[in-house]
Amino acid sequence: MSTALYPGSFDPITLGHLNIIERALDIFDRLIVVMAINPQKTPMFTVEENLSMIREATARWPQVEADHTSGLLVDYGKQRGVSISVRGLRAVTDFEAELTMALTNRRLWPDFESVYLMTAPEYLFLRSSTVREVAAMGGDVAGMVPACVEDRLRDRFGSA
Ligand code: ADP
Repeated sequence: MSTALYPGSFDPITLGHLNIIERALDIFDRLIVVMAINPQKTPMFTVEENLSMIREATARWPQVEADHTSGLLVDYGKQRGVSISVRGLRAVTDFEAELTMALTNRRLWPDFESVYLMTAPEYLFLRSSTVREVAAMGGDVAGMVPACVEDRLRDRFGSA
C-alpha cells in the first residue's frame, strides 16, 4: 500500500490544500497530512484547532490521517516508514523554496522523494496567509476555505 506525507502549516486548511489532497489520493492509497510546527511563528489557530479543522474537512476520506510534528519531516517520515512527500506548486515563486526543501530533505534522507502537484487554476492565488488577512479585516472567505474553517473564522472575527 502506497502512503505519502502532505506537510505544511495549514493555518488554516484551505480549498487549495483540499484540492491537492483529493488529487494526491488518485496517486497514493493513504495520505498523512502533517502539520509542521514552526517555533519561530505564532499561528492564528492552535495546533489542536488546526488539526481538528483538517480532520473535519477530510472526514469524507478515511484514507487521510492528520498529525503534527515539531521536528524534521524526514524524522517524522522515518518514524512512520513513509519516504514520500506531496507538495503543491502555485506560482514560480513557490519553486525556489520547494527546491531548497526537497534537496535538503534528500540530503538528510537519500531515499526521500518529493512529488509536486500543480495548483488548480482557481486556487492559484489562494494561500493561508491571505485567508487570515481577509478574515481579520472582516472580509468574506467563502470559496477559499471549507465550511468548518469559515465557521471558526466567523466565531473569531464576527463577520468573516
Ligand atoms: P500556505 O500557507 O502557503 O497556504 P502551507 O505550508 O500550508 O502553505 O502549504 C502546504 C503545501 O500546500 C505547500 O506545498 C503549498 O505549496 C501547497 N498549497 C497551499 N495552497 C495551495 C494552493 N492554493 N494550490 C496548490 N498548492 C497549495
